[in-house]
Amino acid sequence: PQVANQIAAGEVVERPSAVVKELMENCLDAGATRILVEIVNGGAKKILIRDNGCGIPQNELALALKRHATSKLSSIQDLNRLTSMGFRGEALASIAAVSRLTLTSKPASQNMAYAVEVEGIAQEPKISPASHPDGTTIEALDLFFNTPARRRFLKSEKTEFLQVEEVFKRIAISRPDVAFVLKNNGKVVYDLKAVGFQNEIRRLEALLGKGIASELNFFEWSDTSLSIRGYVSVRAKSKPVQYFFVNGRIVRDKVVIHAVREAYESVFAEKGDVSYVCFLQMPPEDVDINVHPQKSEVRFQESRRVHDFIQTSVMNVFRNAQM
Ligand code: ADP
Ligand code: MG
Repeated sequence: PQVANQIAAGEVVERPSAVVKELMENCLDAGATRILVEIVNGGAKKILIRDNGCGIPQNELALALKRHATSKLSSIQDLNRLTSMGFRGEALASIAAVSRLTLTSKPASQNMAYAVEVEGIAQEPKISPASHPDGTTIEALDLFFNTPARRRFLKSEKTEFLQVEEVFKRIAISRPDVAFVLKNNGKVVYDLKAVGFQNEIRRLEALLGKGIASELNFFEWSDTSLSIRGYVSVRAKSKPVQYFFVNGRIVRDKVVIHAVREAYESVFAEKGDVSYVCFLQMPPEDVDINVHPQKSEVRFQESRRVHDFIQTSVMNVFRNAQM
């Protein structure tokens, strides 16, 4: 079972950025309004994530590290109206299987904080009193220390960090109401204040740069069941930035990419790629986002309709900008 755990773990967490994604999503699920991410040596040496969310009660600490233990799903029907980011109960168990992990947590209702430490889950985790403000810290050291093949598969520190940074950006873009800090080898890379959704352009400036942010045009559009809001640039940039979220999750999807391209071509009568940051909301049962935990793939039930909806809404922005 130990080996099986490690193999499965390698699929959920194949690199530091995947660990960061899972742990940051847990913080958001816990209702955190502040999230700190600390990386050392591209994440291979250390990944630390701290939040001020709901915490994990002492008697649930060991359980949180067990495979298929999730506090977020109580029935299979829940899968279809999933509002939390996590639901598989796999991430913590997987990360614990391939690192030296310490989980320290304090729910506001509990007087003391407690910590649980595991090393590749060889033994029963041991729980001890600790010092921690309301919220949770997870520290994963020496990622893949016990799976040398995986460890060798890691790229350079720089490449791994860039991937972590990208994951961090995506999440920070989607939640301007939450404060985020990213540190790399002790240096602050981003220190993002919570600005709220009304001022999300400030968040985009901080993450994408003022240049790109100044080219973005806000738009909103909805029909009976679909609604989209976000930003598109009108002129084709030499290097466009493109972020598309469906029900809060980042996706890379050809239906989406194609719809924006078509919109551009039909208004400007030439090919071009623009920057965009868009948030599409739709009934959860009309889209399957959990095709694979890492690949950010989606499958729309009615992809033609979604395509045309995106195309029309983006075309309107282009047309307005042309006038
Ligand atoms: P999932 O997110 O799919 O439920 P995880 O393995 O990511 O599974 O986490 C297991 C459980 O641990 C969660 O269901 C949650 O109860 C708890 N948990 C993990 N991280 C946090 C956190 N930062 N704050 C509060 N609870 C957490
Ligand atoms: Mg999770």
